[in-house]
Amino acid sequence: MTTQYKKTTIGSHRLKAESLMMGYGYDPQLSEGSIKCPNFQTSTFVFKSASEGKDFFDVVSGRRQLKDGEQAGLVYSRFNNPTIEIAENRIALWDNAQECAITGSGMSAISTVLMALSQPGDVIVYSEPIYGGSDTLINGILSQFGIKAVGFMSNGGLNALENAIETAQQLGTISVILVETPDNPTNNLVDIAGCKALAVKAATKQCKQPVLAIDNTMLGPVWQRPLEHGADLCLYSLTKYVGGHSDLIGGSCSGSKELIAKIRKMRNSIGTTMDSNTAWLILRSLETLKIRMKAATEGAQQVVEFLNQHEKVKRIDYPGLLTEDNPQYAVYQKQCSGAGSTFSFEVEGGQEAAFAVLDKLQLIKLAVSLGGTESLAQHPAAMTHSGVAKERREEIGITDGLIRISIGIEDPEDLIADLANALA
Ligand SMILES: *Cc1c(COP(=O)(O)O)cnc(C)c1O
Repeated sequence: MTTQYKKTTIGSHRLKAESLMMGYGYDPQLSEGSIKCPNFQTSTFVFKSASEGKDFFDVVSGRRQLKDGEQAGLVYSRFNNPTIEIAENRIALWDNAQECAITGSGMSAISTVLMALSQPGDVIVYSEPIYGGSDTLINGILSQFGIKAVGFMSNGGLNALENAIETAQQLGTISVILVETPDNPTNNLVDIAGCKALAVKAATKQCKQPVLAIDNTMLGPVWQRPLEHGADLCLYSLTKYVGGHSDLIGGSCSGSKELIAKIRKMRNSIGTTMDSNTAWLILRSLETLKIRMKAATEGAQQVVEFLNQHEKVKRIDYPGLLTEDNPQYAVYQKQCSGAGSTFSFEVEGGQEAAFAVLDKLQLIKLAVSLGGTESLAQHPAAMTHSGVAKERREEIGITDGLIRISIGIEDPEDLIADLANALA
């Protein structure tokens, strides 16, 4: 039976995620009629009886499967908590997923997924450039547990992935193909449906099909929904656009019931769960997610137009500027519905010139991170990507004159004035 607060349709009309963010999954009658879901700031839950406690434990530890429509009983907030579960249900709606598991950070989502799905001897295939934390995790931490890794360049297209799969299969079984699209900071796109086809093909040469996991932090869930293009898992750093106010750290992973059950089991054991207070902030953020991402993207488009005509700007990496002659244009048309608001541009004059621009900005703050209401700018070569060897950086376009910017929801004309002044 679908209860009123879990309805996603009116008659035959299907409601959109943005309309469901204000109420889905929450029954006010269970909380004194409170219109808003409370923050269930509690570590543990009282059982009605010993046998109920036993049964609830059987469910959270996976000894008993839930019947259709049955809800897991509440035990302890490392396993489950109403505020967290409602946030998970709402993110699953955005991703068009059966289930979602939220975690304490984007990195804990990625590490929990890779650990849940890999065994010693397995190989992870990943796109490059990848988020620095993911790179350290894959090459510096998981390697300690006998999990190997092979990278491929995201600007190398599906050929690069196919070659990496071949190399990886000589080393072992591929457990996960982890792809960031668009990549950061150069905004190259990887064809998600094409990756899935290669994962299916790879399965003919090994005992299990590699799980295709997309880190959707940069465009999702408003401008890109990887599960609709064949991905098995959709991951977020909720710290960025979804949280959206630069005031929390969080992560999530959406996918099928079966995969998320495995990921939850790992999360509940190693304790990468989110706390209820952060989950409550996520619920607040999800209500305005679409209008924030829309406003930021519209602002970014205006800023890009300005920079594109500026004589001191050599290059801009922004999906909205792709032209039909670029093979990535077709990928953009197929899997993205918007270009987002984080992009990079290169100024003439290398690091000295780039630093001078960054130091002159007044409205735009000089900080790493992205996806917040305020605009942020940083220097990838000296900051987020300083761990990448200089030669490699040049090869992948992270030059010394490159500045990454995340446009927030300020008035675009004010942002342009700030940039015009800094560039002058
Ligand atoms: C920030 C980020 C992460 C890591 O998320 P945290 O919340 O900082 O742990 C992972 N992937 C991408 C693309 C990111 O931008």
